Amino acid sequence: MRALCWHGEEDVRVEEVPDPEIANPHDAIVEITATAICGSDLHLYDGYVPSMREGDIVGHEPMGEVVAVGEDVDTLEEGDRVVVPFTISCGSCWFCEQDMYSLCDNSNPNAEMARKVMGQSPAGLFGYSHMLGGYAGAQAEYLRVPFADVGPITVDSDLPDEQVLLLSDVFPTGYMAAENAEIDEDDTVAVWGCGPVGQFAIQSAWLFDAGRVIAIDRVPERLAMAREHGDAETIHFEEADVYDRLLAMTGGRGPDRCIDAVGTEAHGTGLMGLTDKAKQQVNLEADRPHVLRQAIKCCRKGGTLSVPGVYVGHADNVPVGPLMNKGLTVNTGQTHVQRYLEPLLAKIEDGEIDPSFVVTHREPLEKGPEMYETFRDKEDGCIKVVLDP
Ligand code: NAD
Ligand code: ZN
Repeated sequence: MRALCWHGEEDVRVEEVPDPEIANPHDAIVEITATAICGSDLHLYDGYVPSMREGDIVGHEPMGEVVAVGEDVDTLEEGDRVVVPFTISCGSCWFCEQDMYSLCDNSNPNAEMARKVMGQSPAGLFGYSHMLGGYAGAQAEYLRVPFADVGPITVDSDLPDEQVLLLSDVFPTGYMAAENAEIDEDDTVAVWGCGPVGQFAIQSAWLFDAGRVIAIDRVPERLAMAREHGDAETIHFEEADVYDRLLAMTGGRGPDRCIDAVGTEAHGTGLMGLTDKAKQQVNLEADRPHVLRQAIKCCRKGGTLSVPGVYVGHADNVPVGPLMNKGLTVNTGQTHVQRYLEPLLAKIEDGEIDPSFVVTHREPLEKGPEMYETFRDKEDGCIKVVLDP
């Protein structure tokens, strides 16, 4: 089959690789009909993520048709149309039983590697480094889906792929970010980052009865989408001092809830297990805006910080003193996608939300390498890319 493979910093290639096969009786094989590129893939592309190997297939936001099932798979059969969450979860460990699917204890075959860095291992993820399982990714013609009874959701309606595809990650991620922000009615919610995750965090903040949403970015098309589609007020972080503006907009108190939908991109990282490039960032980019630091500074006393943004390794200079003295609450984590599939699919089917509004680019898999560059550089109004294998 054809698949998009990682070969190092800024180097992904479409290559011919062996088709995946059923390796465990709980596996299914899905023929991919649509597969998106995520801001998380950019951390791989930018060379921040350790334990990637040459030739790894990338991608984790797929949907398609089930073409084979292992003999112990009960809920799926050939021909089913499914969306596959990026989190691989066993469904039966202590964490899965508490609905904390992204913290599954049984889905990372390389758990020992993760334990060395983090103390415990989170769940395995598709196409996201050997430390998180070394699973082949989904920007490919076919995908092996482990624990196939636990992840994929069947879509029976004739909604087009684009309207349901983003259940695999960014819609639930924005939704969980808003839930993690602990929004009370009429709260002011500030969202850093107007990429796909930020856009869904903005949409979801309204679903949790926010009174006001303020979105922060520098990309004009993304700020415009936050205003026009998300009813947010916006701040261009290169044209204004974000702290001054947010405080002025909130009568000096600061936003009640702050969502960091940016992650590693905007700050220095350092220390354990990082690539040389990531280590260099510690020094080279120390004066760039640091979203976590800025959000801690801006958030009102007693407020909540929700961090869906992916941080690779250690974030430098996180002001723990202010965090503690201001009595802030921090909620973060990879999304427990399985938890949100049914309720969010229902919202799409009811017409309450159509997640395809973020999709700006639709291209064949062969154009993957070009699309990584376009998405990373936010050229050509690019907000979300869907590849068709
Ligand atoms: P994206 O790269 O498209 O969007 C990031 C946005 O942040 C860009 O528009 C960029 O201009 C903006 N930005 C950069 N620096 C900023 C700053 N200082 N202030 C405000 N905005 C700034 O990515 P995305 O797909 O929207 O993903 C966003 C983050 O969420 C990434 O870190 C990604 O890895 C993470 N993510 C997390 C999960 C999860 O399970 N927690 C799932 C998916 C994605
Ligand atoms: Zn993703």
